[in-house]
Amino acid sequence: MRAVVFQGKEQVAVGEVPPPSIQHPLDALVRVHLAGICGSDLHLYHGKIPLPPGSVLGHEFVGQVEAVGEGLVDLKPSDWVVGPFHVACGTCRYCRRGQFNLCERGGVYGYGPMFGNLQGAQAELLRVPFAQVNLRKLPPGLAPERALFAGDILSTAYGGLLNGRFQPGDRVAVIGAGPVGLMAVEAALALGASKVMVIDKVEERLRRAEALGAIPIHAERENPVRRARAETEDEGPDLVLEAVGGPATLALALEMVRPGGRVSAVGVDNAPTFPFPLASALVKDISFHIGLANVHRHIDSVLNLLASGKLQPERIVSHRLPLEEAPQGYALFDRKEALKVLLEVRR
Ligand code: NAD
Ligand code: ZN
Ligand code: ZN
Repeated sequence: MRAVVFQGKEQVAVGEVPPPSIQHPLDALVRVHLAGICGSDLHLYHGKIPLPPGSVLGHEFVGQVEAVGEGLVDLKPSDWVVGPFHVACGTCRYCRRGQFNLCERGGVYGYGPMFGNLQGAQAELLRVPFAQVNLRKLPPGLAPERALFAGDILSTAYGGLLNGRFQPGDRVAVIGAGPVGLMAVEAALALGASKVMVIDKVEERLRRAEALGAIPIHAERENPVRRARAETEDEGPDLVLEAVGGPATLALALEMVRPGGRVSAVGVDNAPTFPFPLASALVKDISFHIGLANVHRHIDSVLNLLASGKLQPERIVSHRLPLEEAPQGYALFDRKEALKVLLEVRR
């Protein structure tokens, strides 16, 4: 089958790989129609997270069931499905607590041996383990292009807001106007934020955030902390969602948040430590949450919001490319010349 294959730092190719097969009664095979390129794929692309050359990339997908293991009762071939970017077993002690992102048998598609060694989703076929836990049928009438966002970045942003104990009326600052940050803008406004500010360095992305209803703040042309205070009656945001990753933007989030406020970090970085502003955080009485997304927890709510039209994340899609053009898609997204790239695997 055709798939996007990692070849080495900043090198991806589209080539032939052996197709997956049903290995367990709870496996399903999904024929992928659309696959997204995510900011998290860029960490692999840059060699920041090790991935063996020859691995199939990707973890955002929507498609149709091709085949099911004999243990699956609710899924049948041709069902339209979407699934979380990470896999959970549904039965371990973490899954039983609803902490699917900590599953003892979990993993992330296309993220290599450190994350369960699962084949990636930028491919014609994807093997989904524990498919009764890791796939959702699309609600009737929901377009696949919109549904795809429930499997990762929209649910990540939505869960990031809830991890920051989002409340209607909150004044929210989102650091990073990449796809994840823009999903946070859309979700925060839909959930009733009174104001959303967005901080980035890329003018085009700030304009996109503004079009979604956010106040754009340029990270370098003005002082984001001062501006965010000015926008919140000299307090600072109630909730800051960090959607970049790394020490600099975490420090910015902790500095910006108002006393008594909350910081929720979803950005990924491989820095082992970062300097936590202990004394000021203590005095300010802040809450800080960081973690990988727990998509299973939110995907059903998010699918309902998508089906109702309250969320329209497909508005950020800048490029729909045939699978064969994946290398250009990665390069464009890496240079921030594309905002969100979807690969048309089945046309
Ligand atoms: P992206 O790379 O497209 O977006 C990052 C944005 O941050 C860009 O617009 C960039 O211009 C901006 N940026 C960089 N440095 C900045 C700075 N100093 N100040 C302000 N803005 C800055 O990626 P994305 O797809 O939007 O993903 C964002 C992050 O979320 C990535 O780290 C990704 O790995 C992570 N992510 C995490 C999870 C999770 O489970 N926690 C899930 C999905 C994505
Ligand atoms: Zn992702
Ligand atoms: Zn589990």
